[in-house]
Amino acid sequence: MKAVRIHEFGGPEVLRYEDVPDPQPRKDQVLVRVRACAMNHLDLWVRKGLPGVKLPHILGSDIAGEIVEIGEYVTGFKTGQRVLIAPMHFCNHCAKCVAGLQNQCPEFTVLGSRVDGGNCELIAVPAVSVIPIPDSLDFVSAASVPLVFLTAWHMLVGRAGIRQGQTVLVLGGGSGVGIAAIQIAKLFHARVITTAGDEKKLEKARALGADYGIDHYKQKISQEVRRITNNEGVDIVIEHVGAATWEESMKSLKPAGTIVTCGATTGSNVALELRFVFSRQLSFLGSYMGTMGELYEVLGHVFAGRLKPVVDRTFPLKDARAAHEYMEASRMFGKIVLTM
Ligand SMILES: [Zn+2]
Repeated sequence: MKAVRIHEFGGPEVLRYEDVPDPQPRKDQVLVRVRACAMNHLDLWVRKGLPGVKLPHILGSDIAGEIVEIGEYVTGFKTGQRVLIAPMHFCNHCAKCVAGLQNQCPEFTVLGSRVDGGNCELIAVPAVSVIPIPDSLDFVSAASVPLVFLTAWHMLVGRAGIRQGQTVLVLGGGSGVGIAAIQIAKLFHARVITTAGDEKKLEKARALGADYGIDHYKQKISQEVRRITNNEGVDIVIEHVGAATWEESMKSLKPAGTIVTCGATTGSNVALELRFVFSRQLSFLGSYMGTMGELYEVLGHVFAGRLKPVVDRTFPLKDARAAHEYMEASRMFGKIVLTM
């Protein structure tokens, strides 16, 4: 089959479109013909070099396609069935996995990071990771959903325990996680304030349901939040930016507010003034992907049309390098998807 692999870490030029042997599925696995694989910022981190990534390596976490072969021990699927693949790898037999807490499994990793991913034509995965999709959802839209919607669901619902009527600040409303978080917060009838780097992106974020938009290049986030909320602040901040926004996120919280973070694209070293943490009773929560149960829960809303995938553009697999360059230029609103 064809695949895009990296043989060394570095810039977009290390992506190689090449022939690799077809995967041979185990008896407990399903072989899927990949039709679409969405990109995430993780692809850029892995390409630049992450500990634990063995070379050569196939990137790509978010996969949709159709079943071409079913292992002897697998029941409940048929060939030709349209599916997406849970964007995670876990052992499926440890205490955490059997309790449904796959993202606490010692073997847990995101598909395409420490295990090979979906920038290829065929992938063999355990049956537990394979989820049928409705005919109404095309492969490109299906691939654009799992990682970001699961991440945002776990942050808001699993970790921060969002309740109706709360106010949520979603940083980076044009990012994959931002787009998902805005819609999920609205599903809980929250008031949503979001940020983006230009008016065009803010307009699109408002179309997804955001009640207020802040231009983070022209306006000071915490000042605008104070103005919008009548000086109260927000209940929850959805953080994935890190160093560049951390102080503003802290200052945007109301007393007993919560910052939940799933990433740090601008750097992960931040200052923390403990006197604010205790006197204002703030909470800081880390969040990493989510569980299989949460994935099914959020997909239920996507399949019913209550949450909408947003695709910016597609590239053919062989143009993965151009797709990486496009992502690094940060011009997108929504997902970039490779097709094959
Ligand atoms: Zn496990």
